[in-house]
Amino acid sequence: MGSTTVYHSTELAGPFDPAKAFEDRREADRAYHGSDPYGGSFAHCPSLVLKPDLLFVNRAVAEAWLEENTRKRGPAVAVRYLPQGPDPDTKDKELRDEVRALFRDTAALGPSLVARARSAKARTRRCRACGSGIATAHIKEAACPVCGDAGFIETKADRARREAIHATFRDARIRLDDYRRDRDAKRLAEARPEECPWLIGATVAC
Ligand SMILES: [Zn+2]
Repeated sequence: MGSTTVYHSTELAGPFDPAKAFEDRREADRAYHGSDPYGGSFAHCPSLVLKPDLLFVNRAVAEAWLEENTRKRGPAVAVRYLPQGPDPDTKDKELRDEVRALFRDTAALGPSLVARARSAKARTRRCRACGSGIATAHIKEAACPVCGDAGFIETKADRARREAIHATFRDARIRLDDYRRDRDAKRLAEARPEECPWLIGATVAC
């Protein structure tokens, strides 16, 4: 039999009391799932442990932590997370759009090289790395189909362009990660934990 992690948020539950929310949910699960110990619900959860000092920047991060830190037949654990702010994060969107556009640029490089290689007059193309002769009509990707050399159909200028685009892409991802890390740290520092919803998680049999 396997296990799964189940969640219950007080944000949706009404009463802002995790102990009561847990009791109510366990009662409801017992009524619904009966005595089935593999119902994948809170019904057979022995108890609840509150972690009032644990505040996560969003529900997804809280879920990941609960999945890691609860065990089958162990107690349910309640932590807090920041509710979604009402303001759209335009800076995040801007950086995300930049990363996406650069990703599309990196993904387009191979197909454009393949199209050029296939339109060449020569019937075969020789790989500089392994010496294989590949029929021009059979070139389907930028790497050599025999040895996998990434530079198979690249000129020096193509390679410089690929490296430049990849470097720009990596840089944009780092800027996005840095921005999110600083933003999240600021959000957590400014948060009022007593106003944040609880998330109860338990790993149960299924
Ligand atoms: Zn090769």
